Amino acid sequence: MKNKKVCSVINCNKIHYAKRFCKLHYVKQYNEKNKEKVKKQREKYYQKNKTNIKKYRDAYRKKNIKKITEYNKKYKQKRKEILLATKRRKT
Ligand SMILES: [Zn+2]
Repeated sequence: MKNKKVCSVINCNKIHYAKRFCKLHYVKQYNEKNKEKVKKQREKYYQKNKTNIKKYRDAYRKKNIKKITEYNKKYKQKRKEILLATKRRKT
């Protein structure tokens, strides 16, 4: 069929979803156009699903504890280096 619509974004050949965009690009441009609205919606969603979100977050943390501790170690080391550098500059 010739009238099979695709996304209007260059190099994106995904199936048309709405307003000349595929689903991904439609959502993207919608979010950009409605920043305040989306922010409010997100806040609302968060308030409504607080406990679930917390549960997921805790589960994620437990699952990736090694990664997270490693990252924190690296971050701490970096902060120490920065602190030392600023101290050296002062004296
Ligand atoms: Zn697209």
